[in-house]
Amino acid sequence: MKIHEYQAKRILSEYGVPVPEGGVAYTPEEAANLVETLGGNAVVKAQVHAGGRGKAGGVKLVASAAEAAEFAASILGTNLVTFQTGPEGVPVRQVLVEEAIDVADELYLGVVIDGAAEGIVVIASEAGGMEIEEVADATPEKILRAVIDPVLGFQPFQGRSLAYGLNLDGSLVRPVGALIENLCRAFQENDCSLAEINPLVITTDGRALAVDAKLNFDDDAMFRHRDLNEFYDAEQEDEGEVEARKYDINYVKLDGSVGCIVNGAGLAMATMDVVLSGGAKPANFLDIGGGADEDKVAQALNIVLSDKSVELVLVNIFGGILRCDVAARGFLMAAEAAPHAVRPMVVRMLGTNADEGRRILSESSLDVTLVDDLSGAAGAIKDAVVS
Ligand code: GDP
Ligand code: MN
Repeated sequence: MKIHEYQAKRILSEYGVPVPEGGVAYTPEEAANLVETLGGNAVVKAQVHAGGRGKAGGVKLVASAAEAAEFAASILGTNLVTFQTGPEGVPVRQVLVEEAIDVADELYLGVVIDGAAEGIVVIASEAGGMEIEEVADATPEKILRAVIDPVLGFQPFQGRSLAYGLNLDGSLVRPVGALIENLCRAFQENDCSLAEINPLVITTDGRALAVDAKLNFDDDAMFRHRDLNEFYDAEQEDEGEVEARKYDINYVKLDGSVGCIVNGAGLAMATMDVVLSGGAKPANFLDIGGGADEDKVAQALNIVLSDKSVELVLVNIFGGILRCDVAARGFLMAAEAAPHAVRPMVVRMLGTNADEGRRILSESSLDVTLVDDLSGAAGAIKDAVVS
């Protein structure tokens, strides 16, 4: 789950991470009032669940309340398009108004779960403010990493050593080390999947401040953070993902043309590989989950078909708790409800009641290609892509 910058800054500030002074405005008047209280110079920032706002015109330094009101009026209620959003962008409903910071240096700080390191990793770089992926590509030596031992936890020396590696002024090594420790504590205690400060600004008067902040949370841990759930902002998310969440379906929108419907996360990952080996790209990741009924299967197909870029649907069901005949009836249910949305399907079914499931589909009016295995599925995709 993602939240807005202003919400992330509130949380980080509770953990002792220094952030600029400011507040949230929902109208141009509120933005102007905030600038008055901040003393005239401020930065006004569109609040959307996407980065790249600076380059997209979503961040503006202003020198007066009037200028802030004008910028807020121009951006509130519009959709902001950044390189991280789709071409239609995401709606701006509020702006964050903060004291303008005199920047001496922009650093990068990130905390992520790293599968290869089997734990939490802190990433730091003196090349902040820009996209960290580019820094990692062009100047990998500028990326510092520290792996947090899952048993020992974060060690204060790790923060100091990262701060030292950032070539900071000696007086900043301890405060930045402490800031990194606080960021890690926020990450762990809130079950984050990402905590990022980019840029971490060193001000001209020698302080370290989180000028931007991003926190993402592990959806599977949200049941332990009921208070965070109120930050969920459906308007910022992909419609299919919002629907999927309602039905407890694991769905992630991707940018290919083959929709995938699978039961089991590992099988879903393997299925996306099958799509790629068939010469196409997956339109989504989708795991229906184990205990699905007809209705949930129908919802899964609805969600996949609601994505206009889907040209072909690949179904890969390994019947266990979810029986193949139940899955087949679910597909028919969705197709009957929205016959015009239906697209050709390649179906591989194996396991409990597979014969029955295949019979139901082949006797239906659906455009279904039944395949026996994954290489058959890849072949059918190749045929569909080429034709
Ligand atoms: P993003 O583009 O969505 O990541 O938004 P950021 O919050 O990172 O803002 C983009 C850029 O605006 C930052 O990298 C800074 O260079 C600049 N910026 C943001 N706030 C301030 C500020 O208070 N003072 C100055 N001088 N620059 C700022
Ligand atoms: Mn940023």
